[in-house]
Order: sequence, then structure tokens, then C-alpha cells
Amino acid sequence: MANSRVAIVTGAARGIGAATAKRLAEDGFAVAVIDLDEKNCAETVSAIEGAGGKALAVGCDVSDAEQVQAAVDRIASELGAPTVLVNNAGVLRDNLLFKMSEDDWDIVMGVHLRGAFLMSRAVQKHMVEAKWGRIVNLSSTSALGNRGQANYSTAKAGLQGLTKTLAIELGKFGVTANAIAPGFIATDMTKATAERVGMGFEEFTQAAAASIPVARVGQPEDIANTVSFFADERSGFVSGQVIYVAGGPKA
Ligand code: NAP
Repeated sequence: MANSRVAIVTGAARGIGAATAKRLAEDGFAVAVIDLDEKNCAETVSAIEGAGGKALAVGCDVSDAEQVQAAVDRIASELGAPTVLVNNAGVLRDNLLFKMSEDDWDIVMGVHLRGAFLMSRAVQKHMVEAKWGRIVNLSSTSALGNRGQANYSTAKAGLQGLTKTLAIELGKFGVTANAIAPGFIATDMTKATAERVGMGFEEFTQAAAASIPVARVGQPEDIANTVSFFADERSGFVSGQVIYVAGGPKA
């Protein structure tokens, strides 16, 4: 039964990850809340516990192989074998190509791509043993190309390739892998972008909404709802897909 299962959400101290962790807890999963600093996970964990759910705060840099293995081992022993993984942790280091440093490139690849690879590799063992699993990777509409994001758009397109390959390799073990490509979602990440371009968040949000067919920007819960669909027991025939959650065909 789904309600005895354990889910991991990375980058779950805030934003989309926090909303996803809370939603999966509502769906009956025990949730490991991973973020860089364990202390920053406290708010998400107490919201889940306050609503009667079960959660564990885990500090881990997803781009570090040793920390990833230690985190997954700890989750397996304290919560149980993880069989749902949401690779959500993310960073931005936006810059036009001619100003982009090697660090800007490496940090973004490290968190998004290497992080999703390391987490998936560590968790698949538990999924294969359970003969059931769900992997959800956070891509982005930026995977289609976005000015100032040579690093990020490459990583987010790469995650789509990783997703399809995981779906092919792990399908026979009852494991699905899918990707969500959000458009504009109101979080600290988009607040930071507004600051970078010198706009107030309200003004920035309104401008974004004007080009979105449903005439609003997304909220973290819009993405959490889509993760919930992919994690569902009944979604076992949906694998290797990329769903754009952007208020229209693109945003
Ligand atoms: P956010 O508010 O910036 O939250 C990202 C979280 O990831 C933060 O808590 C951050 O921790 C954590 N994190 C960063 N590096 C990490 C690492 N190495 N290991 C573990 N955790 C790490 O971002 P968001 O807007 O919720 O975005 C979540 C995901 O959706 C990202 O993958 C993002 O690229 C994707 N996405 C977002 C949007 C959007 O419009 N917001 C659109 C498309 C895709 P710290 O606070 O300690 O840095």
C-alpha cells in the first residue's frame, strides 16, 4: 500500500520541494526532506508532522557522492526503504555566455545533473529490491533554450535524457521515471531572478503572467500536484515522459 512507502524530495526546505514534500505526506508517504543544511528542513518537517504525517530532515549536498550515499543509508534505516525519489534541488548561476565562468557552469551541472544521477543511482537499489519505484526529475521550460541560461538550460535538457534512459533501464523492475518541466513558478528562485534584472517581484510576476495562456504564474502546489500524479500507484504505465506544467504549451 502506498501509505507505507517512503519518498525522498531533494531541495525540500522551501519552494517547489517543500510543497512537494507536504503533498506526498498528504498522499500517505513518509517523506525524507533533503536540503543542503539539515536545520533549514525544520519548517517543512514540522508542517508535515503538524498535519499528522511522518518526515525526516536530512542535510545533504546532492552533488557529493559520499553525502548522497550516507543520506540514503540513513533514510533507509530511519524511515524505511525509499521507493519514490523527486530530484528537485536546484541552483541558478545565470549569465550571458561571454560572461559565464567555469564555476557558473560546473555548479549548475553539479547540482542538477550530477545530483540527479547520484541520487537515482543510490536509491534505485531500494526500488529494484521492492520491485516498485517512482523517479520524478525537475526539468524546466528553459530546456527549450533561454537567454542567459546556457548552463541551466543544458542541465534541464540533460535531465530529460536521463529521465528517458532511467525509464528504459528500470521499467522491468516496476520503476517509472518522468520529468516535469515547470514554467514560471513563484518561489525564491524567481524572486532572485527578478532582483537580478532589477524588477520588483510583483511587477515581474505580472509581466510573466501576461505571456502565459492561463493568465497567471504557477505556484509550488501546481508542481506538487503533478509529482503526486506520477508517484501514484495507478500511474505505473506512464514512464519516460516530460510534462510541461507552464499554464500553456510553453511559457
Ligand atoms: P528554490 O526556491 O531556490 O529552492 C531550491 C532548493 O534546493 C533550496 O532549498 C536549496 O537550498 C536547495 N539546494 C540547492 N543546492 C542543493 C544541493 N547541492 N543539495 C541539496 N539541496 C540543494 O527553487 P524552486 O524554485 O523551488 O525550484 C525547485 C526546482 O524546480 C529546481 O530544480 C528548479 O530548477 C526547478 N524549476 C523552478 C522553476 C521556477 O520558476 N521556480 C521553473 C522551472 C524549474 P539552499 O536554500 O540552501 O540553497
